[in-house]
Amino acid sequence: MSKLTPMMQQYMEIKQKHKDCLMFFRLGDFYELFFEDAEIASRELEITLTARDCGLENRAPMCGVPYHAADGYIDRLVSKGYKVAICEQVEDASEAKGIVKRDVIRVITPGTLIDTNLLEDKRNNYLLSLYISTVGCGLSYVDISTGEFLCTEIIGDEIEQKIIDEISKIEPTEIIYFIEEGSISSNLIEDIKKRFSTYISIYDSWSFEKDHGINQIKDQFNIVGIEGLGFHSNHLGIQSTGSLLYYLKSTQKRSLTHINKINLYAFKEKMILDTFTRRNLELTETIRGKNKKGSLLWVLDKTLTAMGGRMIRRWIEEPLLNVEIINQRLQAVEVLKEDILLRRELKESLKQIYDLERLSGKIAFGSANPRDLVALKKSIYFLPIIKQLFDNKTAGLLGELLTNIDPLDDIKNLIDISILEEPALNLKDGGIIKEGYNKDLDELQRASKEGKHWIAKLEQQEKDRTGIKSLKVGYNKIFGYYIEISKSNLHLAPESYIRKQTLANCERYITPELKEIETKILGAEEKIVDIEYEQFIEIRNILSLEIERIQRTANAIAELDVLYSFAEVAGESNYIKPTVNDSEVIDIKEGRHPVVEKVLENDMFISNDTYINTEDEQLLIITGPNMAGKSTYMRQVALIVLMAQIGSFVPAYSAIIGITDRIFTRVGANDDLSQGQSTFMVEMSEMASIINLATKKSLLIVDEIGRGTSTFDGLSIAWSVAEYICKTLGSKTLFSTHYHELTQLSETYTGIKNYRVSVKEDKDQIIFLHKVLKGSADKSYGIQVARLAGLPKDIINRANDILIDLERKNSDEDNHSNDVSKESEVALTSNNIDINKEEQLKLEDLVELGIIKDLKHINLLET
Ligand code: ADP
Repeated sequence: MSKLTPMMQQYMEIKQKHKDCLMFFRLGDFYELFFEDAEIASRELEITLTARDCGLENRAPMCGVPYHAADGYIDRLVSKGYKVAICEQVEDASEAKGIVKRDVIRVITPGTLIDTNLLEDKRNNYLLSLYISTVGCGLSYVDISTGEFLCTEIIGDEIEQKIIDEISKIEPTEIIYFIEEGSISSNLIEDIKKRFSTYISIYDSWSFEKDHGINQIKDQFNIVGIEGLGFHSNHLGIQSTGSLLYYLKSTQKRSLTHINKINLYAFKEKMILDTFTRRNLELTETIRGKNKKGSLLWVLDKTLTAMGGRMIRRWIEEPLLNVEIINQRLQAVEVLKEDILLRRELKESLKQIYDLERLSGKIAFGSANPRDLVALKKSIYFLPIIKQLFDNKTAGLLGELLTNIDPLDDIKNLIDISILEEPALNLKDGGIIKEGYNKDLDELQRASKEGKHWIAKLEQQEKDRTGIKSLKVGYNKIFGYYIEISKSNLHLAPESYIRKQTLANCERYITPELKEIETKILGAEEKIVDIEYEQFIEIRNILSLEIERIQRTANAIAELDVLYSFAEVAGESNYIKPTVNDSEVIDIKEGRHPVVEKVLENDMFISNDTYINTEDEQLLIITGPNMAGKSTYMRQVALIVLMAQIGSFVPAYSAIIGITDRIFTRVGANDDLSQGQSTFMVEMSEMASIINLATKKSLLIVDEIGRGTSTFDGLSIAWSVAEYICKTLGSKTLFSTHYHELTQLSETYTGIKNYRVSVKEDKDQIIFLHKVLKGSADKSYGIQVARLAGLPKDIINRANDILIDLERKNSDEDNHSNDVSKESEVALTSNNIDINKEEQLKLEDLVELGIIKDLKHINLLET
């Protein structure tokens, strides 16, 4: 260390405290990176790696970026998961004794972005803190660009799974965590890393201590006790919140006044959707491609503001359980849906409103520029217009929202009288403050204007005096104002001109008067810039005291926007208001799949009814060939229930939805091998979590369970799972299967009913009718579907021959065994079971389970 140059010693001292960051060290007009940081940055940013003497034998590797273009480079590093520490000069160079003092003024991490192009308008950018103790988990998260702060604790069973589910809902960009010794033994963190592309790091253990947490919370929210916020004394969220607040302070190095409330939520208030279900139902993105297009969000999102866009995403991720709140939303949507004119006018206003949440975040953060304030003012202009639209429709939720919209007149007026309509972007260039706002400023502006006017006149005056037509008065930063005369006219230049600069084709002169005026103009302009800057900061500070009002308004506008969006979609796509109640029934008439119907053209979608209750129509076994529409039908039911519970109208003729506490899906043997688990393993673990968590009030979608293993393993599992759901769980269930044997369950259990998705046979072709009817399908039409899929004719013909042959053998054997009584026969003879010799061994399992009674009656069938 002692061999290093003084500046490098300073660098090292600061870097020591920010080991996990790439440090941008300000030197003149550049940010420089040194040593390993330089190597990483030059590689990641593709900039040249150089070196600099540092006092040691080897020069220090170095690379740099110009400070005025640093934002883009910082964004690139942060989006790759790096943390960037900005180290600036913190004293005036002219006042410094020795080396100018420097320090880190901010650390930028993926989860703490506030003012960058990396933020997506309609998506929150969350930073999440996890504290895992021996009894459970505290989980807190914040979006510092908007000020939202949420917290919960997870205790009880399946903690790890619930953590994963929450993270999959929240989609944080960055996670900090701490795990107490002796708590979770398994590899939760590894699991998180594998599943989510989020930046995760362990954080200082002491910041997760309870007392520290309590102090941080009191400090941030300016309160004397934390109970008022909803924390009980052992709430695990205290620890996660404390560390999160500390992390924010130590990275942002400034107060974050816009983070002024914390929303403590309990798991039981919202419907929990596990990661599989969220994905399977394609709520916010498609399974393949991960696109918004093709998701439920894509269908429902007609929001017009960025805040509304973020809120609708959250609503879809968190359906409600409270009938009253759901109905309030539905009523509001109804009002907006029915009044087309009102909706149109609302649209015009909402369209004009900027991102008030992020604007207020920037104001609090001290990073709002003059144009941000103009955007705020322009948005505020529409607030009273919106309030007026609803004159006599102020009941219920709409009324509440309208009350929460503060007209913010004072803020609008302040910006209106102070900030120019089209101000400069840069604070240090002037061109911000309106005339009439500040007397001194007006005076200086006048002086500068007069000076400029004098100079403008001077040109004509001197032209006349000298007779030089091409004489010009110009200005540059180094020499200031000058009079320019071309070489050919030099002989006409008056004696009194003082030569200042010689160029190839001309000479430049000054005169004492010109310099005098120039001093006035430049002096005035310098002062103008300073005063404008000061005034702007003052105005911004005044506004920062009003953040809460802006936030409350922003929130109300966001909610109004989402309700508008629901109404707009309902109107356009012919949705109806569902009846949501506490009953045990789901009764949908002519239901449709919101996404599939939108993708199919010309109203080609075939609607279907659904009736499920917890008694005699509790588990519906759905059979039908591939491509008939089983999955579509089952997802449609899940989506309609979910839509109803977020307060949206639904695609149906009518719908009664008894509140569902959770929706579970186990859909298809999807090829999710990314986590290194076999398809079957994934399928079974999904099924296991359903079995463990589902209640009587849950809706289960079980699609083709057992596919990933041998036929008889699969059938046995499917059979016993269906029985268990019916006998023990009592959950409302849609259960599709290609094991036709399962249709026999309806004979034993009154709660189980058979349905089939119908097809029509036309010679050797099949036509999919997509209609769900009572009863079970008799054939699987595998060969016809294969033909449709484009398998060569030879293969299709050969398959038909084999099928006929197998069916013939089958019926011969049937004849041989006609001494068996009809009752003991089981339907394992149906046409889509394939058995090979190995599998026969497993048939014993079926006998044991009581699915079949005697091995003698099993036939070897077609493939
Ligand atoms: P399955 O699960 O029975 O194999 P899917 O549900 O995947 O079948 O449906 C296959 C295709 O049939 C869908 O992609 C869709 O295009 C079409 N389809 C499904 N249901 C309907 C319907 N009710 N009306 C019109 N087309 C449908």
